[in-house]
Amino acid sequence: MDDKIIQLIGVSREYNTGIAVDNINLYVKKGEFITLLGPSGCGKTTTLRMIAGFEVPSSGQILLNGEDITKIPPYERPINTVFQRYALFPHLNVFDNIAYGLRQKRVTAVYENNKGERIEKKVKLTRKEIEEKVSKALKMVDLEEFEKRNVTTLSGGQQQRVAIARAIVNEPEILLLDEPLGALDLKMRKDMQLELKEMHKKLGITFIYVTHDQEEALTMSDTIVVMKDGTIQQIGTPMSIYNEPKNSFVADFIGESNICSGTIVGDKKVKFINHVFDCVDDFPLNEKVDVVVRPEDVFLMDEGKGQVNGVIASSIFKGVHYEMAFMVGKTEIIIQDTIERKEGERASIYIKPEDIHIMAKEFVSNRYEGYINKRNRVCFAEGEFDCDVTKLYPGSTLDEEGYLVLTTGEKLDLTNTEVIVEVGLKDIEIIDNDEDGDACGSIVSIIYKGDHYQIIIRTDEEEEDFVVDTEYVWNENDRVSVKIPPEKIGLKLKVAEGTRR
Ligand code: ADP
Ligand code: MG
Repeated sequence: MDDKIIQLIGVSREYNTGIAVDNINLYVKKGEFITLLGPSGCGKTTTLRMIAGFEVPSSGQILLNGEDITKIPPYERPINTVFQRYALFPHLNVFDNIAYGLRQKRVTAVYENNKGERIEKKVKLTRKEIEEKVSKALKMVDLEEFEKRNVTTLSGGQQQRVAIARAIVNEPEILLLDEPLGALDLKMRKDMQLELKEMHKKLGITFIYVTHDQEEALTMSDTIVVMKDGTIQQIGTPMSIYNEPKNSFVADFIGESNICSGTIVGDKKVKFINHVFDCVDDFPLNEKVDVVVRPEDVFLMDEGKGQVNGVIASSIFKGVHYEMAFMVGKTEIIIQDTIERKEGERASIYIKPEDIHIMAKEFVSNRYEGYINKRNRVCFAEGEFDCDVTKLYPGSTLDEEGYLVLTTGEKLDLTNTEVIVEVGLKDIEIIDNDEDGDACGSIVSIIYKGDHYQIIIRTDEEEEDFVVDTEYVWNENDRVSVKIPPEKIGLKLKVAEGTRR
């Protein structure tokens, strides 16, 4: 038996509006405080509702202690939820609000009848049992004196505590909390954060917490799951998420960051803002990367004393430090420092190698330069592909002779028109021979990306790459060819227009 209390395996949820949760894989350890963090609409609530059982996944499995609960109704799961909008009964007092669920509950009792047989019976909890449980829960949320108070007379924070008491009174194994502090003011929220953390320790149960507030996630959680567009971007401890963000989305979301485009120019050497910096991450030569530097990791020095010179463009006092914008050419670097340098002052910056975080640039699509041939097919990457040339001019059509007819009635011969081609990573089909596809090459790289493989196919002569996401396994050095559905080939004019006729 391992210590995974919850496992989501390839879980997706699709609505008619689109995909809310897209094939996520995640496990939660027993007793853990885990937080789903991400911007509004990224699928946090949907994920939580599937764990609670209010929502059924479109595909995938949810396991509780190793057993499939995907189809089990909410009330049969040892899980309780605290929502942002705590739905308390306004006509009941605090005690009755918390006792409500207990009074509905039936538990199994075992008797022995006069023949000595064991008999199981469903019974209500006794008044004494209910009182004991309620006072224990009230103590847990620090509301012992409030039993008889009407809930409508309580403050927002107190009401939220009643809601939490109501959720824990059933002694669930897992408590789900969906932005439970979202309706509270800042001061109250800070206090409640600490209290919830305390409560988690005292109760010893698993907390799955949802928030869009990165600071809240960083202060409370054992583990943070960063989400975006229904997918998981990174899972890790607050420290690792903050210090080693996996991509620029995480870096940006988790805190104020400087994110610059850079290039690896040598062994642990990266060039950005027109300077070569030493760094500690190993990346292949010439790789295009994102460089992330925290504002508090940039040191300001006198001009000429640091690595790169520039000028202070603005400075704002932020309570404990100054936040200054430092311009290197047209690039802005945000710096936090307790010592201010005034707007207009020239200075230089110094960044330590270990504070330069390098991330592979997220590769989202294949781009090629190509041209249209006389059969209205597009040539790129040593191949010739069927495509929809009317994409080049909105509203245009093709006539029988192969001329493109514009909305103005003008006719174009597209032969030799230079184009930019864009193809998605999932839109390329790999064929296991080098003849049947429209371009061919060898597999030069296979990287497992958690739930799929990313494969690079390189052409023989021009060494153009097709980067392909696929669930199928291939071998390095395999000779393959590729096919792309014509409608998946994005086309844009490279220069102004094609040859007129
Ligand atoms: P979050 O809690 O991270 O803000 P949600 O899980 O509530 O995000 O929503 C994720 C996406 O799914 C959003 O685009 C939202 O509009 C959509 N969505 C959520 N619930 C439904 C629903 N019942 N019907 C249709 N679309 C929904
Ligand atoms: Mg939500």
